[in-house]
Amino acid sequence: MAHVGDNRRKVIFLLIDGMGSLPVKDGKTEWELTPTPNLDKLMQKGVYGLMHPIRIGVIPGSDTSQLNMLGYPPEKFYPGRGPLEALGIGMELKQGDIAFRANFATVDNNLVVKDRRAGRIETQDAHALAREISYMKIDGLEFIFKASVEHRGSVIVRGNVRGLGSEGICDTDPHREGARVVLREDNALARAIKKYTLKAHEILSKSSINRKRKLPANALLLRGAGTYNEVEPFEKRFGMKACCVAGAALYKGIARYLGMHVCHVAGATGTYSTDLEAKARAASAHLKEYDFVYLHVKAMDNAGHDGNVKMRIEMIRKIDKMAGMLGKEDAILVVTGDHSTPPTKREHSFEPVPILISNVAARSYGMKKFCEVSCAQGELGRIEGKDIMGLVMAYSGRSEKYGE
Ligand code: ZN
Ligand code: ZN
Repeated sequence: MAHVGDNRRKVIFLLIDGMGSLPVKDGKTEWELTPTPNLDKLMQKGVYGLMHPIRIGVIPGSDTSQLNMLGYPPEKFYPGRGPLEALGIGMELKQGDIAFRANFATVDNNLVVKDRRAGRIETQDAHALAREISYMKIDGLEFIFKASVEHRGSVIVRGNVRGLGSEGICDTDPHREGARVVLREDNALARAIKKYTLKAHEILSKSSINRKRKLPANALLLRGAGTYNEVEPFEKRFGMKACCVAGAALYKGIARYLGMHVCHVAGATGTYSTDLEAKARAASAHLKEYDFVYLHVKAMDNAGHDGNVKMRIEMIRKIDKMAGMLGKEDAILVVTGDHSTPPTKREHSFEPVPILISNVAARSYGMKKFCEVSCAQGELGRIEGKDIMGLVMAYSGRSEKYGE
């Protein structure tokens, strides 16, 4: 038995990114159209409802929404995208660091952007170029760069940035081609970032790796700035030792930010080709050592953004199989999403998503098919993301009586 103590149970939290939808055919969503025998069975031994990941009527981003569901309200704990991505690609952040997402880009001599992704530079070339600009010291500040996949990477600015105008740090990325890199001089930090951008441009322009490239990766564009502040670790906050199984960097970053162990799973890519069975096996294996396994599946969201109903249906079949594997564990299984990404909208939307808490003692509400519509008939009714951890604590035997 994988019980923690007398009646405390382990928890698998299966987060299906962009899970919810709107009708795509005959008035039905992909979840209504696709057989889900495993999830249907799990419904019979669980409670279910609909969940507004942030608040009713709010269109969630993945990062803010997942922080909220994990018990860290984004109004207080969202550090911006930069620090989460930097953590996600394995960089170490220190209290007070500023982190940006960075792109290798192609610019002309006047720093006008010709290609925001430097022709989607290959990862190998990007890593070779990264070695030439991995560390710089400018005006007493350290600039640390790390490349990740293709044109992507992160920049950390370290040093005494307080008082240098670190409020309202702006992107250098103009976010469109044909516009000039945004370089400001209105405070000391902005001036240091300007010098850094020019120095990186100078070094990259001279690099032999760029000589053979039609679109040289001769500039770094910075965006998503945020300041890193340590937060109370998940284990301390909820008394559960936690780990994360995820493919994409952002979700690994969220997990590291909360002090979760990040599992390495071969085949977990965060794309359509991701190996969900390998992820399910990894989640099961980590239940021995951990009380809470955060398992993130990205591809439903990608298919929503692509407007690809067929791929969403294929992912639902795979997720159902995965849920069947996870449901066999002696652990509570939570299945939910961070927002809807209806393929008809190709964007995140405010509509609530199903939530199922299975492998618990539950009253029967008689629903037979796992989907948005039937979940609305369940005991959980309509909850918000902030309610989830309270329910997880209660169902896993970690809540204490309030009063006598
Ligand atoms: Zn998402
Ligand atoms: Zn999305």
